[in-house]
Amino acid sequence: MSHLLSKSKYIRGLQCERALWLDVYQPRLARYTREQMRRFDAGRDFEYAFKSTFPAALDLSAELGRKVDAYPERTVALLDENPAAVLFEAGFQYDDVLVLADVVCQREDGSLDIYEVKSGSQLSDTYRKDAAVQHYVISHCRRIHTFNIVYNESGFQTVDLTEDLAAQADTVAANIAAMKDILAHGEPATPTGQHCLEPYACPYQHYCQQGVRQMSLF
Ligand code: SF4
Repeated sequence: MSHLLSKSKYIRGLQCERALWLDVYQPRLARYTREQMRRFDAGRDFEYAFKSTFPAALDLSAELGRKVDAYPERTVALLDENPAAVLFEAGFQYDDVLVLADVVCQREDGSLDIYEVKSGSQLSDTYRKDAAVQHYVISHCRRIHTFNIVYNESGFQTVDLTEDLAAQADTVAANIAAMKDILAHGEPATPTGQHCLEPYACPYQHYCQQGVRQMSLF
């Protein structure tokens, strides 16, 4: 089943509706700086270091690669056939949103302990929003025992946000509905502003600024 939104598109949509639209319909316009690429790499290194503490885990990305729409079905099969499954990049889909969880550990009663790994040294508001959409999707597919964020404060710091995230379900559902509405229409004419830099430097700035330059020339 094909998906419309992902966790990263949801976060993009919270920052700017135009950025969400471009992410879905014109992703080739995105331009990332070397510094942004370096931070992605550092984030991946931290994530791999945490994952190495689960040597018996099965990594769905190693098996399925970029076929992300195949992840949810494979995840169900792996969780059903092994009651003590530990999975990397387990896929879940609900409400047209596909999320991949960094580490999922199935407990004896079938509920899940989920670990989302973030390389930042603080538990930021964006990390919480990112975890909230994951919790929303996964909780409609399986029972969640704990949902944890692991961040980098001189090593692995784990914080259990399960109750906090569950309380955000209505907000997440409303945001998803609003984003689907944006995607059902043409490109929004959102003007550039401070939101282009926070919480992340938007990769479409050159594109939007080009439009602004042409308007001022005209
Ligand atoms: S540059 Fe600014 S206005 Fe344009 S898509 Fe990005 S955040 Fe939105």
